[in-house]
Amino acid sequence: MRAMVFEGVGRPLRAVERAVPRPEPGQLLLRVQACGICRTDLHLLDGEVTIADPPRILGHQIVGTVQPSRERVGVPWLGWTCGTCAQCSAGRENLCERARFTGRDIDGGFAQYTIADERFCFPIPGDWPHVQAAPLLCAGLIGYRALRMCGDARRLGLYGFGAAAHILAQVARWQRRDVFAFTRPGDEPAQALARELGAIWVGSSDERAPEALDAAIIFAPDGGLVPVALDAVVAGGTVVCGGIHMSDIPSFGYERLWHERILRSVANLTRADGTEFLQLAPRVPIRTHVTTYPLEAANDALADLRSGRLTGAAVVVP
Ligand SMILES: [Zn+2]
Ligand SMILES: [Zn+2]
Repeated sequence: MRAMVFEGVGRPLRAVERAVPRPEPGQLLLRVQACGICRTDLHLLDGEVTIADPPRILGHQIVGTVQPSRERVGVPWLGWTCGTCAQCSAGRENLCERARFTGRDIDGGFAQYTIADERFCFPIPGDWPHVQAAPLLCAGLIGYRALRMCGDARRLGLYGFGAAAHILAQVARWQRRDVFAFTRPGDEPAQALARELGAIWVGSSDERAPEALDAAIIFAPDGGLVPVALDAVVAGGTVVCGGIHMSDIPSFGYERLWHERILRSVANLTRADGTEFLQLAPRVPIRTHVTTYPLEAANDALADLRSGRLTGAAVVVP
């Protein structure tokens, strides 16, 4: 099979030929139909999130068809958990001490075939084409976990309007929240998409929202946005950091956190998150905006994500 392989920090993925992997009992062999690109893939390439034992096939938003049954399933970032540690026992498998993640600890979906633990695969409902379903598996799913942490916040700020935010904006509108979208300064295509998806206010991350927000989610990997978002939320409001890595957060005075503002991160997903979100997604219904790339152009997709040339989500098609 053809695959795009990570060999070391700072190096582009390399196109290789590999044997089709053989599933062990409890694993599924999947023909990869589409695999979404995620900002986490950039953090892996840059060494901000560590791959312990390269070479590794990245890609953790996999839509595949089971061989030979052809059932369609999705494979998310959470690839395996121990089921017995304190976190797993408490229903927080997203924080499992021995968790293994798809496309980091386990070979992922930038390949024609992959294998996955069947207990961590989701059936994909709805009639989305494969490429449109792929971004639901991380951008959508972990984004949804972040949204849930905002409680019943009506005025919701989204800092960074990429793959996750463009999905969440649709869920938030469906939940009758008001969406305030903050993009990179001057990112007209992202601002146009936010407006099209029903944001009631669209601006740059260096602008103030026109009214106080009840909660904000930061998807941009910029720690400088943390004090900015804290200033934008009301007393008692929540700021959720939705990414796996951020640049350093500048020091800020306690008064910005004072009055019971909550600042927290969101990490990974549980299988319950996946089941809940994938049941909800066709009811919204979520429509993803995707740019597709052939497998061999995975490095171009990653470069486009890095430079901000991309609007919506990028998906690789093997
Ligand atoms: Zn991801
Ligand atoms: Zn565990």
